[in-house]
Amino acid sequence: MKRYAVLIGVLVVMVSCSEAEKVVADDTCLSNGGKSYKWNMVTTWPKNFPGLGMAGENFSQYVDEMTCGQMKIKVYGAGELVPAMGVFDAVSQGNVQLGHGASYYWTGKVKSSQFFTAIPFGLTAQEMNGWLHYGGGLELWQEAYEPFNLVPLAGGNTGVQMAGWFNKEINSMEDLKGIKMRIPGLAGEIFTRAGGETVQLPGNEIFLALQQGVVDAAEWVGPYNDLTFGFHQVAKYYYYPGWHEPGSTLEIIINKDALMSLPKDLQAIMKYAAKAANQEMLDEYTARNNQALTELTEKHDVKLRKLPDEVLIALRDISEDVMIDFIEGDEMATRVYNSYVAFKDQVISYHRISEKAYIDTRELD
Ligand code: CA
Repeated sequence: MKRYAVLIGVLVVMVSCSEAEKVVADDTCLSNGGKSYKWNMVTTWPKNFPGLGMAGENFSQYVDEMTCGQMKIKVYGAGELVPAMGVFDAVSQGNVQLGHGASYYWTGKVKSSQFFTAIPFGLTAQEMNGWLHYGGGLELWQEAYEPFNLVPLAGGNTGVQMAGWFNKEINSMEDLKGIKMRIPGLAGEIFTRAGGETVQLPGNEIFLALQQGVVDAAEWVGPYNDLTFGFHQVAKYYYYPGWHEPGSTLEIIINKDALMSLPKDLQAIMKYAAKAANQEMLDEYTARNNQALTELTEKHDVKLRKLPDEVLIALRDISEDVMIDFIEGDEMATRVYNSYVAFKDQVISYHRISEKAYIDTRELD
């Protein structure tokens, strides 16, 4: 009996193996034969710029794969079809179907858009994703963009940025006085109120400005992007943490009429491809910032420094005043601010005993 059982067992295995060999990859598509689409995406980044510039490319690739090539999206760098600062209008007016950039570039048109990228001392990447997707943030964002015929989606995140590059050490608030720093937006306003002098420059002009002494300090993103620009060659001290951009969210904007003209499955694919691109960017920064930081400190002898608590507390106090002034008189910005702050207060209570407590625990001696 035992011998028969073994024999049957062997036969079963042989049959299973030959069945397995027959399984070949299916290269057909469910949707073969449908209408095909050719769309364009304009971006605020140089073509193929590491990290920031890759979200559009990734989004395009996901849509291509998920539609089996029926929808092709051509991604343009800044200035190729429209200038970086023309992305919002081009997509709003329907000249282009899609855009990728950062919502806080459009605060001149939509004040509340500041909150959907980052605010000083605000939410981290993980918290931003929580607020946008489970805390009502995305609904507010869509409402804010509705008058412009735009549908926004989260399309990437840099994580916590660095405070920036300085050509001297910062040991007190006194040391900030008179420093000329490239630091945009609300953070620039805070820096000015702290006694510094704010200079507005696009990313690709920072290197020369530091080299020629037009600025004494500059912030860009973090080790991965800053190493690419070579700032370590023109500034010695690299400061953390990025109090001004704790989890900058990038955006994918879609012309609403164009989106509504798509079949339902394609509309869903756009939504989920954006979600994938959003996470992908954070994953890439999480992996590459470490490698770049090691290269900066070990190979290029960059002096890594933490901003003194005294300076961080003063900047935080100033930022509260700046935020109140910023939202004043703008109904939508006030609503978004209230939603953001309520979520932040809530999430801080739990993250204090979860993320923070755990990371502190890992550092214990
Ligand atoms: Ca930045």
